[in-house]
Amino acid sequence: MPESVMIAEMTWTDYDDKVRNQKPVVILPVGSLEQHGPHTPLATDTLIPTAISKSVAERIGGLVAPPISYGYKSQPRTGGGNHFPGTTSLDGETLIRLARDIICEFARHGVRKMIVMDSHYENEMFLIEGIDLALRDLKAQGVDDMKIVKVRYFEFTSDETLEAVFPDGFPGWPLEHAGVMTTSVLLHLHPELVRMDRVPNHPPMHYPTYDVFPSDPERSSSSGVLASAMSATAEKGELLFSEYVEKISDAMAGEFGAAATPKA
Ligand code: ZN
Repeated sequence: MPESVMIAEMTWTDYDDKVRNQKPVVILPVGSLEQHGPHTPLATDTLIPTAISKSVAERIGGLVAPPISYGYKSQPRTGGGNHFPGTTSLDGETLIRLARDIICEFARHGVRKMIVMDSHYENEMFLIEGIDLALRDLKAQGVDDMKIVKVRYFEFTSDETLEAVFPDGFPGWPLEHAGVMTTSVLLHLHPELVRMDRVPNHPPMHYPTYDVFPSDPERSSSSGVLASAMSATAEKGELLFSEYVEKISDAMAGEFGAAATPKA
């Protein structure tokens, strides 16, 4: 049986041995439980970064922590809004605390290299705050050699791939919610979870360049989709996924040196 890179599947003795002797990079996927249209699952933002993390860990000799499967509140302009049934969100301080506690626990085990693999637009600053406070806590305890890289995988999409995936024009990452990119990657990874017969076919949403509170569901997308996924395919998903794995592995090898040298 090949060795698992998933920490949850390891015994504590195997994990301890690996952390002590191989000083691996630990990857923490972070997602959300959030509506992703009538055609893709609530865990879309968690399934994708977890799969990318697993493939990256296999290439760079890293380990993958169980994901943070809930995220900060979905916003109308990036996720449709927090009013949808199924969307189950955290207060910002909860997410900050979760990230801070998990990082400090891995540091207690001896881990000194981490990647926070974020997939949910709204998590951004709360994860940065969690990372910052964890590093401050660790420094106060005399641990000053922890290095953390925060990654948003979709930012590794090349211009050539964007042109191939969006031949009719790229709507931008904020509108790419339950759109062509995430739907294609899921068609590649988990086709059984995608209902292409339910993909809404409406024009991309138009929002003002500001946010209004309390948000009005009537001004949001009724389907939950911000830009249609009609042109999603498994082939596009494979192209995107392999680019993410390859480019993130290369970048992390650069950041973490020999410990993260991609395996052939
Ligand atoms: Zn999201």
